Amino acid sequence: MARSGMVIIGAGQSGVAAAFELRSAGWQGSITLIGDEVFLPYERPPLSKELLADNFQPVFLFTESDSIRANITVVRDHATKIVAAEHLITLKTGSSVEYEKLLLALGAEPRALPPIPVAGEARIFTLRKFDDALQLRKALAKARKVVVLGGGFIGLEIAATAASNGKDVTVLESGARILARGVPENVAAFVADRHVRGGVQIICGVTVTEIKHNEGVTLVQTGRDGAFGADLVIVGIGAVPNIALAEAAGLAIDNGIAVNGRLETSKSDIFAAGDCCSFPHPLFENRRLRLEAWNNARLQGEVAARNMIGAAIIYSAVPWFWSDHFDCTLQIAGIPALAAKEVQRLTQNAYLSFHLDPENTLIGACGFGKLGSIAKDMRVSDILIGRRRRVEPSPLSDPSLQLKSLLLDPPATIAEESVRASPRAES
Ligand code: FAD
Ligand code: NAP
Repeated sequence: MARSGMVIIGAGQSGVAAAFELRSAGWQGSITLIGDEVFLPYERPPLSKELLADNFQPVFLFTESDSIRANITVVRDHATKIVAAEHLITLKTGSSVEYEKLLLALGAEPRALPPIPVAGEARIFTLRKFDDALQLRKALAKARKVVVLGGGFIGLEIAATAASNGKDVTVLESGARILARGVPENVAAFVADRHVRGGVQIICGVTVTEIKHNEGVTLVQTGRDGAFGADLVIVGIGAVPNIALAEAAGLAIDNGIAVNGRLETSKSDIFAAGDCCSFPHPLFENRRLRLEAWNNARLQGEVAARNMIGAAIIYSAVPWFWSDHFDCTLQIAGIPALAAKEVQRLTQNAYLSFHLDPENTLIGACGFGKLGSIAKDMRVSDILIGRRRRVEPSPLSDPSLQLKSLLLDPPATIAEESVRASPRAES
């Protein structure tokens, strides 16, 4: 049995951030990072964006020598059971690990298609892990016609990557529009327009009824839009949090593993972070959120690590993420969907929208355009959202207003700037 100490299950973005933060925050005991993938932990965002690049390789989160230097024990195994009363984890290979404090950073898995007939050797792919990416890359290299099910982040990013590489791409979305989860309608329309200009066909309101494979062609049959022939089908219809391990251990579940503001689960000494957990967000009246985003996973891992060794930090980072489509980037800060009012701001190169509550507190912002044309304004918006600043709607729509002038009263503190700046610098 491994010695007791800090144990993390899930060696993805969040788990790795936690492991290294434990050490840099001064923890001197053992740190065990259990992950069930064959590769050393790697970044997921490049998988959908650089899938067809010539030198496609995993971007590792650390090297073997980094983990040796930080004295982190990396265990490649799958955790099958947690016995909370005994502070014990069992692994697929039969061994067990004791923990003093445990972090669950289990991530999420692609949502499966609803049960529809699938006949023959239909070539259907999902993308979450590097293994998935290798298989998809191989199949895409030979494909000409690609059908993507789901007009969410993953489907659209793969669509842009494939179309940029000369593939004939059709996106079939079941909802009335693309990016309905979390991206305001006007912003989604700009993203859709960029895709159409890039050669992607987007069809919304589609119900897929059957997928069959015959004589080398996969046929996606729909309810009212006919059939679409493809060399391969990519399914990107959402992600579901990995909760089975936690649920079996008796932890509370509420759209993911339920944690409190300090990222503690309902069982003592067990924390959760990243895509697998839902948490109350103090910036949004403690509404329970579950975020599937790189920045959140990293920052929650770091906060959980500090809380595991005695801090009592309430996780309060402004939600922020980005998504790349052809030569444009979409960035979202805050939660636009919770707003009562929207103010639009169109410049020559970019579209920005600001989302305010009834008292004009900025609670969300979106930007779409070339990275250089939105990055600074999105950074300012992020700080304003974190400060719960009230802003008058009408000047926001005026492109001549220097958004950063809103930061002058009161001036941003150095701590505020550095907390918000660090994840972007590395993205
Ligand atoms: P994960 O990174 O999924 O890590 C969880 C790990 O736990 C996995 O390795 C899993 O195998 C392991 N695990 C699960 N159960 C067990 C167990 N029982 N035992 C051992 N190990 C276990 N976000 C953005 O903001 N911008 C982007 O551009 C962006 N692009 C993305 C592109 C792709 C293709 C994908 C898939 C995601 C993207 N994301 C992006 C989302 C972002 O990558 C995730 O939010 C982030 O990876 C979540 O980190 P996590 O640590 O919570 O989970
Ligand atoms: P998503 O953003 O939730 O989008 C899924 C889309 O598929 C939704 O629009 C959904 O519509 C639609 N859909 C659901 N069922 C369908 C069906 N049967 N047929 C056709 N369309 C259907 O999820 P995702 O794009 O699959 O992303 C998966 C994960 O990868 C998430 O964790 C995401 O954060 C991550 N990711 C993030 C980025 C990024 O942030 N840049 C990039 C890639 C991946 P409804 O909403 O109506 O159900």
